[in-house]
Amino acid sequence: MTQEQGEKTGKVYLVGAGPGDPGMMTLRGVECLRGADFVLYDYLVDMRVLRHAPDSAELVCLGHHSRERTIDQDEINEKMVQAARDGRTVVRLKGGDPDVFGRSAQETEALRSAEVPYEIVPGVTAALAAGGYAEIPLTHADYSSCLALVTGQERRGKKGPPLDYQALAGFPGTLVFYMGIRSAAEWSAALIEGGKSPETPVAIVRRCTLPDQTLIRCTLGTAAEVIRQSRIRPPAVTVVGEVAGLAPELSWFATRPLFGRTVLVTRPRHQAGTLCDRFTDLGARVLVQPTIEISPCDDWEPVDDMLARLDEFDWLVFSSANGVHHLLTRLFFLGRDLRALGGVKLAAIGPGTAEELASWRLNTDLVPDQYRAEALADVLAPRVAGQRVLLARASRGREVLAERLQQAGARVSQVVVYASTDVDSVDPQVESALSEGQIDWITITSSAIAQSAVRLFRQSLGQAKLASISPITSQTLRSLGHDPTAEAVDYTMDGVVDAVLRAEREDGASG
Ligand code: SAH
Repeated sequence: MTQEQGEKTGKVYLVGAGPGDPGMMTLRGVECLRGADFVLYDYLVDMRVLRHAPDSAELVCLGHHSRERTIDQDEINEKMVQAARDGRTVVRLKGGDPDVFGRSAQETEALRSAEVPYEIVPGVTAALAAGGYAEIPLTHADYSSCLALVTGQERRGKKGPPLDYQALAGFPGTLVFYMGIRSAAEWSAALIEGGKSPETPVAIVRRCTLPDQTLIRCTLGTAAEVIRQSRIRPPAVTVVGEVAGLAPELSWFATRPLFGRTVLVTRPRHQAGTLCDRFTDLGARVLVQPTIEISPCDDWEPVDDMLARLDEFDWLVFSSANGVHHLLTRLFFLGRDLRALGGVKLAAIGPGTAEELASWRLNTDLVPDQYRAEALADVLAPRVAGQRVLLARASRGREVLAERLQQAGARVSQVVVYASTDVDSVDPQVESALSEGQIDWITITSSAIAQSAVRLFRQSLGQAKLASISPITSQTLRSLGHDPTAEAVDYTMDGVVDAVLRAEREDGASG
């Protein structure tokens, strides 16, 4: 043992992250990431996968593959060994599968000799991902009974025999070349020289499973020239064989309604999930740049005071899901429970707020048909004369609800249960995507977001189309000089997605 007696050794997990789409990682891989203290990831690993790591984990990117390799590899091994000896749980995250052109052997060898315990978690390798996402049957009862994964960059002076292109040319099945873009002229010529027909179908699949996946179909004889002319860059796999000819021009993946579109979601990060997932499922590339952030309020005293007097109120009214979350979290933090709400009726501004209440096992007594403060005031006003109403609200927001209820004869108290603040800097990646016109849509899902987005993105906002959640939000945008292209019919997140889809369909029909 190289460590002192009684000291805890960590462990290293060599995990395959899959080809890109974060859904392609195995459950075991996700479990490992959730328990990680230290994550070393390859540059090909999609950042969305890293979200499974705890916030406290240290994340280190290992740079580009084409850097000087031997030094890189030693450094990686050293980092892994050292971290494990420090008692940390290390995840070494690799694109695709760790055992397919993943240099796993060098790493396990180092771990073994340092007596560091490890596990290997397989992943979906790029060839298999290209099969599914570009609809290329890698084996086929009529055309291909076997499959070979081949490197386009053989290491010179390697220990085993070099690739035998004559044998590969005679291989009775599908060949998939990895790392074969820059070397296409050499390997394609070698295969043809080895006797493979230049007419053999070829499919080049770049960045498969990602929102910008592309497919180029050609033949073995034209592949090198096609790659040169199209200026296609790695990462791509090249499928050579009869089955490559069976790939449809547009696979199921490329025919999803928002494929090729980029959407910027501007909600607070912890609330962006549902909207991101829906746009992603529809095929869009999704970026997130929060324009406002939600945080617990600075001063709990007024909240605690109201919570102690809840039984004095007839109605408790929530104008956002955040209000529900923060008020109830505080209630439970104080050691109380849902019985504290037993005597009040609950009103919610819209379906999202009612859903949040339901997740706390609370039914909502009143939700207006339309998700807006005016509509809530309309349905509440006739019921609250002479009653005591408590509004749980953000540190800023519209006053219309309180005013209208007061006019209706209610005794209204307001309590700030969370803070809403503007974000003041833009992620550089988002900034450049926006200024280069790469972003097709920006979602604007409240008036506060509209105001903050105009301030944050300035004139760049005009580079993209805006999808507004409601007429009020659209009005705010217009008052700031921006006309939304799409407006939701249902004033919900799903409504925003539908509005974008509708606008795209109309655009497609007219163009
Ligand atoms: N271990 C990885 C391969 C690493 S070698 C795996 O199992 O997939 C790097 C090569 O993998 C790239 O040059 C490319 O040929 C291929 N590759 C990785 N991700 C890819 C992707 N999303 N689309 C197409 N090819 C990819």
